[in-house]
Amino acid sequence: MFDNLSLKLDKAFQTLKGQGRITEINVATTVKEIRKALIDADVNYKVAKEVTDDIREKAMGQNVLTSISPGQLLTKITNDELTHLMGGESVDITIEGNPAIILIAGLQGSGKTTFSGKLASYLKKQGRQVLLTACDIYRPAAIKQLQVLGEQIGVEVYAEPENKDAVKIAKAAIAHAKKNNHRIVIVDTAGRLAVDEEMMNEIARLKEALAPSETLFVVDSMTGQDAVNTAKAFNDRLNFDGVVLTKLDGDTRGGAALSIRRVVEKPIKFISMGEKMEALDRFYPDRMASRILG
Ligand code: GDP
Repeated sequence: MFDNLSLKLDKAFQTLKGQGRITEINVATTVKEIRKALIDADVNYKVAKEVTDDIREKAMGQNVLTSISPGQLLTKITNDELTHLMGGESVDITIEGNPAIILIAGLQGSGKTTFSGKLASYLKKQGRQVLLTACDIYRPAAIKQLQVLGEQIGVEVYAEPENKDAVKIAKAAIAHAKKNNHRIVIVDTAGRLAVDEEMMNEIARLKEALAPSETLFVVDSMTGQDAVNTAKAFNDRLNFDGVVLTKLDGDTRGGAALSIRRVVEKPIKFISMGEKMEALDRFYPDRMASRILG
């Protein structure tokens, strides 16, 4: 994960090796390298500029009094800035209501169905009674996929393959959950290959009708800048509560992880790193920053 970015940042700090103290010139060179590394990793240009301007300002502000080397100092400042960029604190999902409803949105292929299964498994392990609901009314294969996952993790899946009204299916699932003591209903929705009006209308209708305590937007981190643009389009329409970054096990360049929070102003809540049901983690900005810096 982020191998290239880590390497380039490391190289940027190397430019300070052997330097006894921070000067305007050596900081400027390093900061320029850091900015280039971030942009190469698909971080939005404006975000990369803001972050590196902050790094420069902090480094210059800390001048002489420090006992650590310039390289160590810049690494520490960059670590803090990346943590701050990704939101600082980890933010949990909100589970409220009886049943609590969690709505899952995103483009087709982003990893929605896989994540729905993972989240159900994660919550089940916390001792919660979960019901998965298949609301992809366009692709029978998606319903089947959720059913297979449900079986694998031992979580019931509610589906009505003949019904073409996503809101009705979800409402029936909620009634089913109430009757059968499921405390959380996860609603997996239909995606499209690109943002379109019809999909947005449908997901907005679901959100309005179900009043979920948590709406999560799932996005493929390998899609770089597009991930950020898609997040923006969904958030403008849906005002979601959190982001799930998937496929962080691939050779993603990292840009999505680094810019989504700043651009969309919504926290990343989970990261998915593989196809297996266990490959899900809560997102901690400080741990991610440490990982990026190696
Ligand atoms: P959906 O169309 O949004 O429901 O997407 P799916 O859940 O069907 O996922 C699309 C493809 O991505 C499937 O082949 C999944 O196995 C795969 N996938 C999902 N999440 C991850 C992940 O975190 N890492 C990897 N490598 N593959 C994933």
